[in-house]
Amino acid sequence: MIDLTDSGMIVAEGQSVGILPPGTDDQGRPHEARLYSVASARCGEAGQQHHVAFTIKRVVSVIDGQVYPGVCSNHVCDLRPGDPVRLTGPYGASFLLPEDPQAQFLFICTGTGIAPMRGMIEWWMRSGWATADRLMLVYGARTVRDLAYHDELALAAERGDIGLELALSRDPGKARRYVQDALAERRDRIARHLASPNAYVYLCGLVSMEAGVFDAFAAICAAAGLDWPAIEVAMRAEGRLHMETY
Ligand SMILES: Cc1cc2nc3c(=O)[nH]c(=O)nc-3n(C[C@H](O)[C@H](O)[C@H](O)COP(=O)(O)OP(=O)(O)OC[C@H]3O[C@@H](n4cnc5c(N)ncnc54)[C@H](O)[C@@H]3O)c2cc1C
Repeated sequence: MIDLTDSGMIVAEGQSVGILPPGTDDQGRPHEARLYSVASARCGEAGQQHHVAFTIKRVVSVIDGQVYPGVCSNHVCDLRPGDPVRLTGPYGASFLLPEDPQAQFLFICTGTGIAPMRGMIEWWMRSGWATADRLMLVYGARTVRDLAYHDELALAAERGDIGLELALSRDPGKARRYVQDALAERRDRIARHLASPNAYVYLCGLVSMEAGVFDAFAAICAAAGLDWPAIEVAMRAEGRLHMETY
């Protein structure tokens, strides 16, 4: 959580903020900002308007036994309460919820891609329109321990505010399950969703998930007699297909 009090920055769910790590790169230039999705709703984390939540994974690569820590994610993960943080932004005017009481949502995310979904779900639950048949979250991770916000999402699903499908790729003793497998298992609902003119799809997480998700949409549509290429064109043109992959 970062406290934006006195920063002049106002953020909404679905936007990103740039974090400027201290120090310089190996050319002596100041490090560039890295983007992080806001994980809280516009009313702030835990109702504190100036408190903004993020979901940041510590990135470390090991190549030939050499350890390369990511500059910004490690900077943020090593912060202590009260430490100052340099921010830029906010950025992003498209990965936002529409003001459309008829809208139906399919959120698909992996790993830290849950961040914007969590903020949008929080706002959705405050909208008064929240029902599980109008918002389904398909959330992929390696194991249940890797699912950030699992408890609160499970509670929202239990209350009937959202539909929740988990896809765990390394669940001990179980077959590997990816988000596209969860989509295929719920093919009837997904086909109904994609066929609706009020349907929105939001996709966030690793770039590598895109192909699997679009292949699943194409297969589900083909089996249901729907023309996925035409649906995709319409969804993009009408601002109903949103992707933020990195
Ligand atoms: C719109 C958007 C939203 C995002 N939201 C989130 C979010 O909510 N949460 C989140 O965690 N991330 C998010 N990201 C990703 C984030 O911006 C960073 O890319 C990520 O945290 C890695 O940054 P870093 O500074 O830690 O790594 P970098 O220092 O940029 O390093 C990148 C990679 O290279 C490796 N590396 C570093 N130096 C070397 C070297 N010399 N040789 C070989 N490899 C090396 C690092 O280990 C790392 O794997 C988002 C990205 C975008 C574009």
